[in-house]
Amino acid sequence: MTPHNKLFIPGPVEVSEKTWEAFRRPMIGHRSEDFKNLYRGIHPKLQTLFGTKQPVFLSTSSAWGVMEASIRNLVGKRALCCMCGAFSDKWFDVAKRCGKEAEARQVEWGKHIDHKDVDLALATGKFDAVTLIHNETSTGVMNPLPEICCTLAKYPDVILIVDTVSSCGGVKIDMDALGIDVMLTGAQKALALPPGFSLFSVSEKAFARAEKIPNRGFYFDFFEFKKQQTEWITQSTPSIAHIHALQSKLDEIFEEGLDARFDRHVRTNALVHDWVRRASFDFFAEEGFRSKTLTCVKNNRGIDVLKLARKLREKHHLVIDPGYGKLKGQTFRLSNMGDETDETVSHLLACLDDCL
Ligand SMILES: *Cc1c(COP(=O)(O)O)cnc(C)c1O
Repeated sequence: MTPHNKLFIPGPVEVSEKTWEAFRRPMIGHRSEDFKNLYRGIHPKLQTLFGTKQPVFLSTSSAWGVMEASIRNLVGKRALCCMCGAFSDKWFDVAKRCGKEAEARQVEWGKHIDHKDVDLALATGKFDAVTLIHNETSTGVMNPLPEICCTLAKYPDVILIVDTVSSCGGVKIDMDALGIDVMLTGAQKALALPPGFSLFSVSEKAFARAEKIPNRGFYFDFFEFKKQQTEWITQSTPSIAHIHALQSKLDEIFEEGLDARFDRHVRTNALVHDWVRRASFDFFAEEGFRSKTLTCVKNNRGIDVLKLARKLREKHHLVIDPGYGKLKGQTFRLSNMGDETDETVSHLLACLDDCL
């Protein structure tokens, strides 16, 4: 048997045996009492994870499904797309392809979204929705969510859509307290589940908006999710295996404790940061706005990143990412999301030292 190569890429991340065991549980009917009990049982934990009293929905799609859905359900006038990396940049294109008016606010990759710029843009009165990526996985930038949310509070007619795909479950985010209108996350990043599934929640304000938006379709109509959730079912057959795995993962998360989990991410992230400095590398993300769940290392030493990644894989069976898109070779990314501990991250760093 070929040895397993453990993932340290920022998604999909390594999936534990325990999670796979849950994923492999015998199938149940999606309209059965068993399913309703499953959804009902995990729901309070999902609300705590999201920091919301609103219902949390299960989407059998990757996160992009819900990102596109948010545009289709909520943009009436024009979306302001806050762009600072591959994922946030793409959202602008998606809005256009959905036939919506959208405007790009682009900052250089590696820089953060400044709430003052958002304020200036919204003051024009041109926008009724904002798209924001909390943790821009391609550059390792974590945007200042509380500041941006404070700015949004000045504009009650504007909907704030926040992608927390690589931060929810690794960093504390309180949807209701922050006033987020759509908070969405994917399975395969900080929750360490297999890819192909996502979770999201929608504020009352966003539902009021969606009511006025035509052509919301069926599969991603927020009102379908809302209606079915009251019966503890989904509008179509969901990936039940994912929901079993999610149940198991939520048990683990609350056994560890949310705060302990967030602290663990802070600690393992600090280990990576110490290593970056010790190895005389630099950070791609600007200081003060660096992610707690992954690190985008700048290749200021001019090493052969692809060779490093290959050697790490062949010799130690560990997989790192050699840079996203146009940053390939100029950066590499190390994830500390999901189940990683001080021990596993220290092991990765020792193996990196060995390969450099
Ligand atoms: C990975 C990622 C996505 C896309 O997730 P998919 O599962 O591929 O749809 C979106 N946003 C962020 C911030 C991501 O890290």
